[in-house]
Amino acid sequence: MEVSIIGAGLSGLTLALALHEQGIPAVVYESRPAPLAIGGAVMLSPNALRVLDNLGLYSIVKDKGYNFDILEYKNVDGDILDVQEFGSQEKYGYRGLRIYRHVLIDTLVETLQSKGVEVRYGHAFSHVVEETDQGVTFAFKDGTTVSSTILVGADGIHSTVRRYIYPELGTKFIGMAGITAAVPTSQLKLPEGYHLPTTIMSPKGAFQRVAEGSHANWEREFVADKEAGLKFLQEGNDHFPEFVRNAVSHISLDKVNKWPFFVVPRLEKWASASLKVIIVGDAAHAIPPSAGQGINQAFEDVYMLALLVRQSKTAEESKAALSFWQTYRQERVDKILELNKQIDLRRMPNPGNEAGGQTDKLPFELGWLYEPDFKGIVDEYVNKSKN
Ligand SMILES: Cc1cc2nc3c(=O)[nH]c(=O)nc-3n(C[C@H](O)[C@H](O)[C@H](O)COP(=O)(O)OP(=O)(O)OC[C@H]3O[C@@H](n4cnc5c(N)ncnc54)[C@H](O)[C@@H]3O)c2cc1C
Repeated sequence: MEVSIIGAGLSGLTLALALHEQGIPAVVYESRPAPLAIGGAVMLSPNALRVLDNLGLYSIVKDKGYNFDILEYKNVDGDILDVQEFGSQEKYGYRGLRIYRHVLIDTLVETLQSKGVEVRYGHAFSHVVEETDQGVTFAFKDGTTVSSTILVGADGIHSTVRRYIYPELGTKFIGMAGITAAVPTSQLKLPEGYHLPTTIMSPKGAFQRVAEGSHANWEREFVADKEAGLKFLQEGNDHFPEFVRNAVSHISLDKVNKWPFFVVPRLEKWASASLKVIIVGDAAHAIPPSAGQGINQAFEDVYMLALLVRQSKTAEESKAALSFWQTYRQERVDKILELNKQIDLRRMPNPGNEAGGQTDKLPFELGWLYEPDFKGIVDEYVNKSKN
């Protein structure tokens, strides 16, 4: 058994490590020439941190980021509008962790290297050449081919591997983009009593509506235009508190990130007919950013997949295990999409309510999201299917 993984983002690298821990050889192929060194920070919640802990990574990354329990939403006057729990040592065993994406990627790459798992850069996947009951042969854009037992597409929301399963499917731009920048905390001169992270709600909202261009390079040009992103962040901030104005007063261009938001429809299958081509992470289910669960869910995908692949000895077992995996994972993704909707109702600028939502709401109950022990769930599935 050998697994080829397309994409050295967080899904692909974590899958390679999880498979290695199960004694399954894997190679990661990435189209970029080197590890991604940009991309701002992500927030990890206990469900994902438990996965990283099981893989021996949590103790390495815990102190490389910012540990916190709650994300506060405030209006421009400093009144709390809402609170979203992101972790708790007492309740879930882990505090939330805000950490630069490139720190996670570097840690994963180093860990894989130390274990002899290869990540091959400059390898752009092109297409599947042939799939049989024994395995799959696929080609890179330079025309070279590789054969392996399983091919996993961890190549993000615009996945090329997914085209093999869904030739007609495209992504849809939703007309919004996140424009972010990192600045030193000291620059903010944060007043007493302000807890980080905090989202300051403004009647103008936290998103910019951008026009979709008519040509194919639109996305690349929009993302590349960092000057426009900087201008957006720095303009029209008079209504924001002083520390927000301090924050945007000096921003280095290389710290500006622009993320146009795309969606893909709910996918009925995350694997090909012969089950040799599988998609994970954003390639399988792009989750809008409201609940901060995109990468957290990808960690769940790949960890469970590696455990299940290890347990499946026959074609029948593989089929049943993949069906269990996708059903379980889709149910969680669906619940998160519903949570996203609830969060958007509270967070998005709301006509008639300049604060951006109601203020008389209870915190979300998130035990279902943060508590599951995925190893236990797989063990239970395996025990049941043996009996
Ligand atoms: C602004 C922003 C903030 C976010 N914050 C959070 C957060 O706080 N918490 C959270 O959980 N999620 C967050 N997310 C979501 C999260 O970033 C994604 O869910 C996550 O990156 C998905 O990981 P992935 O590995 O599946 O895909 P990607 O990160 O997109 O990685 C895919 C990889 O595949 C490579 N690739 C693509 N095509 C090919 C090819 N043909 N051949 C070879 N390689 C290829 C790409 O170069 C890339 O390295 C955020 C997203 C955005 C945009």
